[in-house]
Amino acid sequence: MSTRIDGKAVAHRLQEKIRTEVALLKSRNITPGLAVIIVGSNPASQVYVKKKQTTSAELGFHSVLIEMPQETSEAQLLQKISELNGDAKIHGILVQLPLPKQIREEMVIAAIDPAKDVDGFHPQNVGLLSLGRPRFVPCTPKGMMHLLEAYQIPVAGKHAVIVGRSNIVGKPMGLLLLQHSATVTLCHSKTVNLPGILSQADIVVAAIGKPHFVQGSWLKPGVVALDVGINRLDNGKLVGDFDFDSAAQKAAFITPVPGGVGPMTIACLLENTLMAAQTK
Ligand code: NDP
Repeated sequence: MSTRIDGKAVAHRLQEKIRTEVALLKSRNITPGLAVIIVGSNPASQVYVKKKQTTSAELGFHSVLIEMPQETSEAQLLQKISELNGDAKIHGILVQLPLPKQIREEMVIAAIDPAKDVDGFHPQNVGLLSLGRPRFVPCTPKGMMHLLEAYQIPVAGKHAVIVGRSNIVGKPMGLLLLQHSATVTLCHSKTVNLPGILSQADIVVAAIGKPHFVQGSWLKPGVVALDVGINRLDNGKLVGDFDFDSAAQKAAFITPVPGGVGPMTIACLLENTLMAAQTK
C-alpha cells in the first residue's frame, strides 16, 4: 500500500504559517506586496493568475494584478517592470509565462530586480541556486522539497531520477536534490533506456507533460513518486505524468494529480514573497 502525499494539507499548513508571519510583519508596518503581470488572454494563465491573486490577498498580502493586452510590446512590458522595481510597496514581481511571441522571455526575466524575483528565474537567482546558496528558488521544485520534508522522506544518499530538464522544474529540482545530497540523474527526451534508469531510482520526479507516461513496471518497489505533470484528457479529467494506478502499486509514497505537487506551487510563491519583504 502506498501513502498518498496530501499536497493540499501541506500547502494549507504552509499558508497558515505565512498568514501568521504576514500579520507579524504588518505589526511592523510592512505589508508584503506581490505584483502579478499577465499579458494577453491565455485561458490557463488567467486561471493561474487569478488563483495567485486571490490566495495572496486572502493571506493579507498587498496584491496587484496588472493585465496587459496581447499586442503589448517588449518595451512596454519592460517599462512596467521598471516601475515595479522602483515601487517600495512591491516586494515580489511575477510575470506569468508564456508571453506573446513578440516578447522575449529572457529579456523580461532579466529585467526583474533579482531581489524581487519571487519566481526564482532571474539568472542571478539561478546562479545562486547552482552555487548551493539558494535565495529565491523556483516554486514548484521548492514545493516538492517541502513535501519530502513534511513526510520525513530522507533524501541524502538516495538516487533521485528526474524526467524533464526545463528551467522551471527539472533543472532546479535536480540542483535542490543535489544540495540535499541525493545522487541525481536528469533525463529528457534523448535519454536512452529510460525504464532501465528509472528501475534504479529511489525518488522519481516526473515533469514531462505526457499523460500516464511513467509506468509502474519501470519502477523499483518502495520508490517515492513525485508527479509534476498536469495533463487534461479529452474527457476533461486532469492526470499526471505517472500511470497512477500501476505506479501506486510500486511506490511507498506518491503524489496524486490533482492535489499533490500543484497546491504547493502557489504557497511557495507566497513564501518567497514573504521572504522578499522580510529581507527588505
Ligand atoms: P517542458 O515542456 O518545458 O519540459 C518537458 C520536459 O520533458 C523536457 O525536458 C523534455 O525533454 C522532457 N520529455 C519530453 N518527452 C519526453 C520523453 N518521451 N522522455 C523523456 N523526457 C521527455 O515542461 P515543464 O517542465 O514546464 O512542465 C512539465 C509538466 O509539468 C507539464 O505538464 C506542466 O503543465 C506541469 N507543470 C506543473 C506545475 C505545477 O505547479 N504542478 C508547474 C510547472 C509545470 P527535452 O528537454 O529533451 O525536450
